[in-house]
Amino acid sequence: LTFDELIHHWALEKPDQVALEQDGDALTFSQLEERSRRIVSMLRTHGLAKGDRIAWLGKNARHYFELFYSAARMGVVMVPIGWRLAAPEIAYILEDTGARLLFTGEGFDDLGALACSQIESPPQVFDTVGAQAEIASAPADDFTGAGPQDAVLQLYTSGTTGNPKGAVLTNANLFSLRQPAEEAAQPWSSWDDDEAILICMPCAHIGGTGLGIMALAAGIRGIVQAEFTPDGVLDGFEQGITRLFIVPAALQMVVHHPRARNTDMSGVKYVMYGAAPIPLDLLREAVQTIPDAGFLQCYGMTETTGTIAMLPPEDHCLEGNERMKSAGRAVPGAELKVVGDDGEELPIGDVGELICKSPSNMAGYWNLPDATTAALKDGWMHTGDAAYMDRDGYVYIQDRMKDMIISGGENVYPAQVESAIYGHPAVGEVAVIGVPDETWGEAVKACVVPKPGQVLDPDDVIAFTRERLAGFKVPKTVDLIPEMPRNASGKILRRELRAPYWQGRDRQVN
Ligand code: ATP
Ligand code: MG
Repeated sequence: LTFDELIHHWALEKPDQVALEQDGDALTFSQLEERSRRIVSMLRTHGLAKGDRIAWLGKNARHYFELFYSAARMGVVMVPIGWRLAAPEIAYILEDTGARLLFTGEGFDDLGALACSQIESPPQVFDTVGAQAEIASAPADDFTGAGPQDAVLQLYTSGTTGNPKGAVLTNANLFSLRQPAEEAAQPWSSWDDDEAILICMPCAHIGGTGLGIMALAAGIRGIVQAEFTPDGVLDGFEQGITRLFIVPAALQMVVHHPRARNTDMSGVKYVMYGAAPIPLDLLREAVQTIPDAGFLQCYGMTETTGTIAMLPPEDHCLEGNERMKSAGRAVPGAELKVVGDDGEELPIGDVGELICKSPSNMAGYWNLPDATTAALKDGWMHTGDAAYMDRDGYVYIQDRMKDMIISGGENVYPAQVESAIYGHPAVGEVAVIGVPDETWGEAVKACVVPKPGQVLDPDDVIAFTRERLAGFKVPKTVDLIPEMPRNASGKILRRELRAPYWQGRDRQVN
């Protein structure tokens, strides 16, 4: 499948079906077909051809999705830039990608201009009004569509473990796992015509743009919200959203919102969540708060075009269910393995690096040949995540390989310690890190944000953990901090918590 084929297909099959909607403003598939022809003409007028890049700086917008889909039809690569980035970071991405045009969303004209002023040969900038005017007057010409192997999207990784890297994704990457596979069909891979999917995570990440792609592939309505707010999600539930994807930090805000009790959520079919580990207590609470929905945990990364493993609804039963701690098993079409340092597959239950073979694996990192070779070996994407697999192929993500703490020769996975500490009633948020230690090499430290209004004694956290975990996993020290450092994807930045302790020293990582 390609964007060109899909848009053409739905315009013929379901011309009047709404494709994209924002704040009640809707675009049907036949309108999308027409507008995208005009956008292609506009891009060609500006000299763009297959393999060139354009960028978007702004919050989620219907306008972004129509630009992306249209550019993708002709093989022009869209680079959505995170709107929380600072001007020099934006300038870096614009320069690195050599984007020829920059489209800015509402409220981002100044930031776009500032970023462009820091580059030697900046892209031509279109604000939304300017772009709309050009699109409206461009002809709806015919053109040759891009093929499956052509790149269409370049997404930067979240920058949780280091600098963000640009993953180049092709038509085939984006649609390979989203084609209706008859014999492997799962209940959630079929769609009713009247379904609607909420796109509320940032479009600069696969959890945002990927949902738009999912809606297009299924030929159903994508409801775009500029950014995530718990109120927006609850409003969406009342307005007929049947599926959504949110990160655990966002799910927590929805579940804990005072409105959550009084909102009719009976229309929600599937809640997809993932992109970061989820505390078990939060997951249980969410399942109880949205009882009619099937929960689907998604595990994946930018480099694999998102989801490669899924924990299905039936593994979310609340009683005595070890499997609820798993990130699921390989989706049809993808293969997962856990390997040791030598690259050999490890026995069931042993922790090693999770690797993945999938038609959704990226073409490579943009301008980073060495990083590409290190990440993609014989078609296997090395995730950098430590995990083990059970007999039935379910994977249990322990942590990032880079975050693993080695204390006195023992491996400690922060996520396991964190989930024990989360059981403490006064703990709001926790992150566990390794800090230098004369005796042990590294010592376990917990950084804790107390629940609002609660008094927390660090020694109490240590005692609490000692009752639940082996001695070498128990934090030696606990820092109370006012706020957890997170990136735009809601992921905890352990490297920022670690930094003050490691100044001037090298931390050995795997
Ligand atoms: P960077 O690669 O720049 O350090 P990042 O890895 O956070 O940033 P993403 O591609 O957005 O960038 O995130 C992929 C990572 O998110 C995975 O490698 C994994 O560590 C984590 N992740 C994704 N889904 C899950 C999940 N369901 N459970 C636990 N962790 C997850
Ligand atoms: Mg990563």
